Order: sequence, then structure tokens, then C-alpha cells
Amino acid sequence: MAVSFYNFTDLHHKSFRDDIKARLSKIIDDGSFVEGEFNGKFEKEFGVKQGAKHCLLVANGTDALEIALQAHNIGPGHKVGVPGITFYATAEAVLNIGAEPVFIDVDPVSACMCPESLKRVMKEHKIDAIMPVHIYGLPAPIKALEAVCDPAGIPIIEDAAQAQGTMVDGKPVGSTKNIVTFSFYPTKNLSAFGDAGAILCQDDEQASIVKTIRNHGRGDANRLGRNSRCDHMQAAVLDLKLKEIDGYNQSRKKIAAMYNEELKDLAVEIMPAHFVESSSWHLYPIKLANVEQRIGLQDHLKSKSIGTTPFYERAMSQEKALGGYKGEDKVAKDLAGRMLCLPMNPFLTKDHIKEVAKEIANFLN
Ligand SMILES: *Cc1c(COP(=O)(O)O)cnc(C)c1O
Repeated sequence: MAVSFYNFTDLHHKSFRDDIKARLSKIIDDGSFVEGEFNGKFEKEFGVKQGAKHCLLVANGTDALEIALQAHNIGPGHKVGVPGITFYATAEAVLNIGAEPVFIDVDPVSACMCPESLKRVMKEHKIDAIMPVHIYGLPAPIKALEAVCDPAGIPIIEDAAQAQGTMVDGKPVGSTKNIVTFSFYPTKNLSAFGDAGAILCQDDEQASIVKTIRNHGRGDANRLGRNSRCDHMQAAVLDLKLKEIDGYNQSRKKIAAMYNEELKDLAVEIMPAHFVESSSWHLYPIKLANVEQRIGLQDHLKSKSIGTTPFYERAMSQEKALGGYKGEDKVAKDLAGRMLCLPMNPFLTKDHIKEVAKEIANFLN
């Protein structure tokens, strides 16, 4: 039985297609292509849902990170702590605005930024901001990171690109005092028909800066801007999908619990049970003993038409364009390459999960 990694067909089912066609047709008739009525509607509803006073749509998740840094007046000459394991964009955003990334090591279980490593790195470097990532949808330890950053006045930007549905310290991601950024790239839990992103914050002045920057400086904040507007079509798609997202995230939790159950007696490392409730399960990663075993398992599953992805094959410090930046990366380097993400989408059934578990067992024996 083939088990696909993503499933965009069921996500965009018949009634969704009909609704979206009607919306697109109206957008064409109205000629309201950029920042239309659904932009405002989605911003309002998504902000409330996530517990943020302000929600501002932007063009993509990377822009969201860059503009969030600018809202904190981070730029050339500043150092920003980023986790050693993350998607490229987190470190890229820091470089794009002229600041320097400093790697903070990660927790060996969750792969999220480690507060103890942050403390050590802060002794060596003057850190001006940090960008913890809720990687795979697992909640980064924000309270513990705040305990380190708050006394030093260091702002935190939470990269929640993979985390729509994640609960951070018991509350929906977006509820903290920090700026929180989202990506709505098509593979994310809540996704557009292309690129879109959002910045959530509680602070009026930060919101005003974001509004000004995203639309060429047209706003109250007297800032040089850029174009990071969100298309009306993307907002219309997001607004429709918002109605279904909780059900889909609930399915992801059930699937993660099923995987945990089916894999618990096998010689692979799974995420601890307490994450079942708090993670958005954007991805379901397991850890293998080493890179060779991960490659072997991936090849075996591929031969059985089971889709997997090795997020992430290298630590950030091992990426060519990012090598040379400083910080700590011991755990990140150890984890990189031996984590494998199994098929994860809201439409997997118990039979799919059993099939994946059976083939993992076949490979290990
Ligand atoms: C997807 C992603 C981004 C970037 O989002 P884009 O919309 O592709 O720019 C940033 N950080 C993380 C952790 C991501 O997964």
C-alpha cells in the first residue's frame, strides 16, 4: 500500500474547490487583487484564534521573519541567535537584513533551541535578539528562553512557520508577548495557494512598523518599506481553510498517537508522549541510530512507495552559505542526518500507519 507524505487532493476537496472558485470569480469581477476584504477578515479572525492583538499578513514566512527583526530595529552590526536545527529561512532572514546569525544548540530530544546553550553563547557574544523555532510543530521552551532573555532585555521572535496548532506553555502559539511569525506555504498545516505569511504581535507600535514596511513605507511609522503585501486570492484561500484547520490538526494528533503506539517497541527513537497534545504535528520525525541507518530506512520505505523526508540533513552551521558563523552546534550536528520524517497529513488512516510501522520493523529486523 502506497503511503504519501503530503495529500493535497483530499485537502482541496470538492466543496472547498467550489467555494474557492466562487471567491476567485468575485475577486476577478471586483478587481480587488491585493489586500482585499478577506485580508482584513482573516487577520482579525486568525489574531483572535492565536491570542494576538495584531495579525498582519505579509507575502511569505521569510519576509515575516525579516520584517519582525526590523520591527525590533535589528540590522547591520547586530547578532541574532538561531537554533542549530531549522529550515534555512530562519538564518537566511537574519543575513538578509544585514545582521549576523549566531548558532544556539538544540535540545537532543525536541531539536528546539536549548536555553542552557543560549546562556553559554551569551557569555561569548552580545546577542541582540533570538529566533527560537517551533520545529516540526513541537513547542520551543519559550518560558525558559524568556527567563534568560527578559533580564537582559533581549527580544524573542518565535518562528511558528511549522506551528499552526501548537500549544506553547499551555496557550495557542501567538499568545506570548513576543512577535510570532507564520508561513502559509502550501506544505504547512494552514496553507495558501502559493506564498503567504503573517506576523502576530501584541504591541501597537510594532504593528504600525510592520504595516508600514510591508507596503512601501505607506503607513504611520515613517520607515523605509518594501513590497511584502499579501494577495487577496491567498487571503481568500486562508480564510476558507481556517474553518477546517482545527479538525485537520486534531487528525494529525491522532495520527501521531497512532505512530507512537505502533512504533513504541521498535528500535527507533520517537517523541515523548507529552508532545502528542502540544505539537501541531506538522511533521512526524523519528531518530535513527546514525546517518547510514536513516538512508537505508529511507531507501527501503521508498521501495515500498512510502514517502519520507530527512529534515534536516545538515545542521545550519554545516550549510555552505552559513558556515563560518559562530556559536554552539554539537547536538545539532549529531541530530542532523539521522532524523527521518514519516508520512504526515490529516488524511492518513490506521491502515497507513500500520503499513509504515510494518515496513520499518521489516527493515530493522
Ligand atoms: C517554511 C519555513 C519558513 C519560511 O517560510 P516561506 O513562506 O517559505 O518563506 C521559515 N521558517 C521555518 C521553520 C519554515 O519551516
